Amino acid sequence: MQRRAFLQTVAAGLVAPILQPHVMGQTQDFWSMPRTLHLYRPATRETVHATYFANGEVILCEYEKLCILLRDVQAGQAVQMSLVTLDILAGIQGWLRANGINSPLHTNSGYRSPLTNNHTEGAAKNSRHMYGMAWDGRVPQVSTESLARFAVYLKGGGVGFYQEKNFLHIDSGSLRTWRG
Ligand SMILES: [Zn+2]
Repeated sequence: MQRRAFLQTVAAGLVAPILQPHVMGQTQDFWSMPRTLHLYRPATRETVHATYFANGEVILCEYEKLCILLRDVQAGQAVQMSLVTLDILAGIQGWLRANGINSPLHTNSGYRSPLTNNHTEGAAKNSRHMYGMAWDGRVPQVSTESLARFAVYLKGGGVGFYQEKNFLHIDSGSLRTWRG
């Protein structure tokens, strides 16, 4: 698929994440293919490669693996992560794969309990992390600024670019961007 067509498909998919064959058309469309995420969590050395959505349905046992990797490690708590958040990550990862980068998304943080959030330096009081809607991380082979730019293009929610600490925040809340 041409990169431009892929990007347009990704953008269309986030507006209408549920499979709509009459709109999405061809079987080659990104969002009609199984949605896979490959995540790595350096702090715990866990890797998950899971297809969490296929044929219009969430695949629960695979989705659960992702939710567990994205847990609050300090509190030992996992929650149901927002599917839109996972879709944003899948869009980013699909874009990377289309550009020949097969790295997992290096994950710093997913869900945070209120207590953990309170103890997290620089965390917003009402952080989307507390609702299972946010992800922080990076991809070592790619500049975090490029990732942030693509995440903004997706229009899936909030995008924060933390230049000094070199990570990206994405969430499925309202559209907004910031630099930390
Ligand atoms: Zn964050």
